[in-house]
Amino acid sequence: MPTTVPTPQPVPPLLQIEDLHVEFDTPDGTVEAVAGVGFSVGAQETVAVVGESGSGKTVTALAVLQLLDGGRISRGRVLWDGTDLTGLDRRALRRIRGNEIAMIFQDPMTSLDPLYTVGHQIVEGLRLHRRIDKRAARGRASSCWSRSHARPAPQARRYPHQLSGGQRQRVMIAIALACSPRLLIADEPTTALDVTIEAQILELLRELQAEYRSAMLLVTHDMGVVAETADRVVVFYAGQVVEQGPTAEVLRDPQHPYTAALLAAVPSGETDRAEPLAAIPGVVPPLRAMPSGCRFHTRCARAWDDCARDEPPLLPLPGGRSARCLLHRSGTALQAAAVKGA
Ligand code: SF4
Repeated sequence: MPTTVPTPQPVPPLLQIEDLHVEFDTPDGTVEAVAGVGFSVGAQETVAVVGESGSGKTVTALAVLQLLDGGRISRGRVLWDGTDLTGLDRRALRRIRGNEIAMIFQDPMTSLDPLYTVGHQIVEGLRLHRRIDKRAARGRASSCWSRSHARPAPQARRYPHQLSGGQRQRVMIAIALACSPRLLIADEPTTALDVTIEAQILELLRELQAEYRSAMLLVTHDMGVVAETADRVVVFYAGQVVEQGPTAEVLRDPQHPYTAALLAAVPSGETDRAEPLAAIPGVVPPLRAMPSGCRFHTRCARAWDDCARDEPPLLPLPGGRSARCLLHRSGTALQAAAVKGA
């Protein structure tokens, strides 16, 4: 008898961000830091959000947990396991923060309380989120402490300022993972660290993510970190997603000139040390003065007349990829190629 092979059902994403807009009020008026961003993170998946400073990646990460200081979500949805977080009250959000979604920040000193020992902070974090007694919290904290490879017990009785940057970040990782969150948001977790410690912290994050079966949303400006860590990459520019897709494919064959320029700026073993490193000319445009058309056109080596006029949508491409560039609009590729070759 022929056997029927069940059709695999698509797994719904754990986190889905849809058409997210974030505004800030400034003395000169309201500005939009995030303008219609959308992407998803699947269970146990690592997604890296990459882009220059001012591209909106950290604001997007903060918007997931509604930790925007002075900003607000003006439009869009942040679906967590199907529930729109933007519609939850503070109490419901508190149940998700730390318990289901945890966050690690760039500088642990801004997150750790200087008045308490780091061991005390892990225990209290557990008691707050898990509502367990002190004894159980101490047991769980001690296990997280050793898993994060923080130095042994005497360090737990130290205050944040008595630890090195790497040790402080290990403490933050122990706190973040203490409640076994389903999603870990890591905002530039290694930027403040030297290269050796950075490699150790990335390795630790990968190890613990596998052990706790957590998904990870990694915010970074470093393509090297993306290559080592992420299953998929989402490239941000000037408050928009300009390209997304599986990491290996995006790095091998970028479909947006900005992604290509970011990759060209990463030195490799073949880079001639006598030559200056490739750099993207200009800077990310200020929020109050976004150029018309494609937001990247003032810096793009492949721009032509249409780019200053037509705003490109995020166009779907084969292989689950997408790119926001007029080069992918049907009928323009040849024209663009001609412009490039001119
Ligand atoms: Fe460059 Fe034009 Fe594509 Fe924008 S739309 S990235 S300016 S080629």
